Amino acid sequence: MKVLVVNCGSSSLKYRLINMENEESLAQGLVERISIDGSSLTHSAKGHKYVIEEPIKDHKDAIKLIIEALLDKGHGVIKDLSEIGAVGHRVVHGGEKYAKSVILNVEVMKGLQECTKLAPLHNPANLDGINACSLLMPNTPMVAVFDTAFHQTMPEAAYIYPLPYYLYTDLGIRKYGFHGMSHKFVSAKAADMMGKDIKSLKLISCHLGNGASVCAIKNGESIETSMGFTPLEGIAMGTRCGSIDPAILTYIMKELNLTIDEANDIMNKKSGILGVSGVSNDFRDVEAAAMKDGNKRAQLAIDIFCYKVKTFIGAYAAAMGGVDAIIFTAGLGENSPRTRERICNGLEFLGAHIDKSKNNVAGKDAELSKKDSKIKILVILTNEELVIARDTMELIK
Ligand code: ADP
Repeated sequence: MKVLVVNCGSSSLKYRLINMENEESLAQGLVERISIDGSSLTHSAKGHKYVIEEPIKDHKDAIKLIIEALLDKGHGVIKDLSEIGAVGHRVVHGGEKYAKSVILNVEVMKGLQECTKLAPLHNPANLDGINACSLLMPNTPMVAVFDTAFHQTMPEAAYIYPLPYYLYTDLGIRKYGFHGMSHKFVSAKAADMMGKDIKSLKLISCHLGNGASVCAIKNGESIETSMGFTPLEGIAMGTRCGSIDPAILTYIMKELNLTIDEANDIMNKKSGILGVSGVSNDFRDVEAAAMKDGNKRAQLAIDIFCYKVKTFIGAYAAAMGGVDAIIFTAGLGENSPRTRERICNGLEFLGAHIDKSKNNVAGKDAELSKKDSKIKILVILTNEELVIARDTMELIK
């Protein structure tokens, strides 16, 4: 069976067609600037890249263009739309209702609509993608796979905030956690690499990309994670501040006379690595500024990021009563030896010893720890699309 994986943002759409017989990626691509001037589709298949530039007014237009690209005589990979056995959609927020992936139908769509309140920045675009696909592929079964689902195993003590309890019961304010597909994928792969049953392992997964989160996975289940009610909580990120004293928010709103939107914008888009360094939200630029130009604020931004990740690793080792492996994944985790080394320096007391020469890798799965390190340190390439495709196939079967 071939599964089409769709990941919709408000103005972008990523897709991948996977042959589930061998889990091979047949085609993948990105639609950018949906409903904005200069929209385009970049489609990669058969070792070639094709760019189509034309107005794309909404998600339905985008899906139409993707279907055309997949069927194209030259760069297409299928002859008939019926070859696509199912579509798997990434949905950011499943609330408490969806602890597992689910086959989409009218009732589920209503349920997802309810979850939109919890993720107003992400879920509406996910729903647009689902609606567009159902119109253009009405006979193809579809599945929703959630970023939050993997974390539904967290115990109450981890997910209830110490706020008045009615805020949880009436408004659903609790920790949900995100990046669930990634944490699930890399933790399963780590168990494979270690030749152990995941049910016997304590793992700490560090998903370090533009958005970043750390997750404690005990016996195969998420028991704690750094992102919270929204993806803003936890470690400092590319442009997000992560956890800060909540009183700062009301203080700056009052002192600077900020609206709710302006305050949100500062915390989500102007903080983190970008906010401290003043250089960029991209680690490559910030590392270059710190190393080549001796930019002190760029160095400070990196120091803060690595320090925060380290403190979460320590906390999660305590939460699980030990740790067998620390996993690095996502853009920065997979590609920046310097960041991994900085984070691991000082964790020797736990029994985690990084081997500098083994750490000098990028873009491939590897073990980075010294031979006698009690705790394994691993880099594992994440594959969220494959998690979506596997769940989709499993449910459709
Ligand atoms: P997201 O999916 O959250 O947008 P990614 O997982 O693609 O993020 O990661 C993007 C981040 O990874 C970028 O901010 C970039 O700084 C970082 N990154 C990618 N490659 C490298 C590299 N070679 N060295 C340092 N950082 C890198």
